[in-house]
Amino acid sequence: MSAAPRSITPSPAAREFLGRRHQLFIGGQWVDPAEPATLEVLDPATEERIATVARGGPRDIDRAVAAARAAFQGEWSRIGSHQRSRLLFRLADELEAHLDLAVELEVLDNGMPRPIAHYSIAKFGCDFLRYYGGWCTKILGETIPVQPHDVPNGESLTYTRREPIGVVGAIVPWNSPLIMAVLKLAPALAAGCTVVLKPAELTPMTALLLGEIINKSGIPDGVVNIVPGYGHDAGAALAAHDGVDKIAFTGSTEVGRKILLAAAGNLKRVTLELGGKSPFIVFPDADLARVIPGAARGAFFLQGQNCMASTRLFVHDDVFEPVVEGISKLAGAFRLGPGLSPDSDLGPLISAEQRQRVMGYIADGRKSGAELVCGGDAPAGKGFFVRPTVFARTSMDMKIAREEIFGPVLCVQSFSDSDLKAVAAEANKTIYGLSGSVWTRDISVAHRMVNLIDSGQVSINCHAAVDPAIPFGGNRQSGWGREFGREGLDPYLKTKATTVMF
Ligand code: NAD
Repeated sequence: MSAAPRSITPSPAAREFLGRRHQLFIGGQWVDPAEPATLEVLDPATEERIATVARGGPRDIDRAVAAARAAFQGEWSRIGSHQRSRLLFRLADELEAHLDLAVELEVLDNGMPRPIAHYSIAKFGCDFLRYYGGWCTKILGETIPVQPHDVPNGESLTYTRREPIGVVGAIVPWNSPLIMAVLKLAPALAAGCTVVLKPAELTPMTALLLGEIINKSGIPDGVVNIVPGYGHDAGAALAAHDGVDKIAFTGSTEVGRKILLAAAGNLKRVTLELGGKSPFIVFPDADLARVIPGAARGAFFLQGQNCMASTRLFVHDDVFEPVVEGISKLAGAFRLGPGLSPDSDLGPLISAEQRQRVMGYIADGRKSGAELVCGGDAPAGKGFFVRPTVFARTSMDMKIAREEIFGPVLCVQSFSDSDLKAVAAEANKTIYGLSGSVWTRDISVAHRMVNLIDSGQVSINCHAAVDPAIPFGGNRQSGWGREFGREGLDPYLKTKATTVMF
């Protein structure tokens, strides 16, 4: 394991942006919070403060919801589908024009390596906006061939149309901040909704850049409002707000439950993208040259701070040793360092608290009798780094194998059973059901396993295939509803049925 240099100087453009006085974005204006308060934003690779940002509270959420409601009932409601489509494309173009700055801010704020930030913003920022830009003109109702009982001469027409649900509260986590924001904004705007976005308190920087970009794109004032703030304060106020018609939430299962309770007041709609503990199942005939790098990438992408991370590896006895050895070799060779350094393969975790949480799980894994094969420690010095860690010989009664760690910790469990139901039963032994993958050359085994695994997504010979057009979301306590694709639009729409008597 080598350590890359720990400090890489940000560009003048990033320094200038970070050094600004950052306000809240409400009604198309940059405004101060109702009560003066700030958030200190740290670079997790250096632990240094990189920016100070205005912190909104419940009164600012009130203002933002009022602005979103006014836009929803006003100018935005008069803009047709072609124009909404053009605006989403323009937003994508503006984001692309600001790509370098967005990438750098994301890296400094979140810690992820620059190539990952670049790929994710270009792919899931720009492409996602364009994908949903295309949907604006394809939101269709139906005509329904019925003859209602009280139509005297039998001549009637029944049709439905799909209307925007209204004001959306979007609450997002820190693990991929800009993308999480775009995943909410794009379908909401395509459907004709307006949005109040609350970014994670640890990572507000790219959401603030998005506010600037939104203004440049020509999207009318108040259509998107951005209020950085704490979850228990601004987030809770948004989730409970009677002026909000829907909450689109991504985050932990624990907070997802709180969102549901808060939303009960006005029975607003809720979609939840929550935690995961996804299985990666390797059969003895799998192509190990693809399995080994695939498993290392699946487990350690974003330092394991990834809801789809393949953190539970189930490997058949016949190939257990070479798979564990191969992954550990790759994991041990990953270079930890600041995301801006071209020599870094993995960045830091998001915070001291997160590192402490992950180290707690690692200590628990050592005590539980699992075999620590590599990693297991946090390098000395600045930055919230944890070495990629592999535990072998884990079992599903161990806490490290059952609970979401959200850090670079992989649990490897062996199986010898040829009973696919027994293998799948082990894979299903968590409260989650977000992603998963099966690795085999036997097409029947692969598809039988897909049938048996209770997850929103199960891939064959790849893990977590993600594209704006592929529906994504969780079963069981991984969430409610789906994002991405046509299904990702549905939660932002409501159906109105109309019958005309001739
Ligand atoms: P978190 O649940 O702590 O916070 C997520 C967001 O909710 C933040 O903006 C936070 O401020 C806000 N929040 C916190 N308490 C709140 C409350 N009482 N009311 C309203 N809002 C509140 O999650 P996190 O630590 O930021 O992110 C990690 C979690 O997110 C992991 O569990 C991960 O699996 C999950 N996640 C899921 C997906 C997915 O698509 N399924 C994607 C990324 C992350």
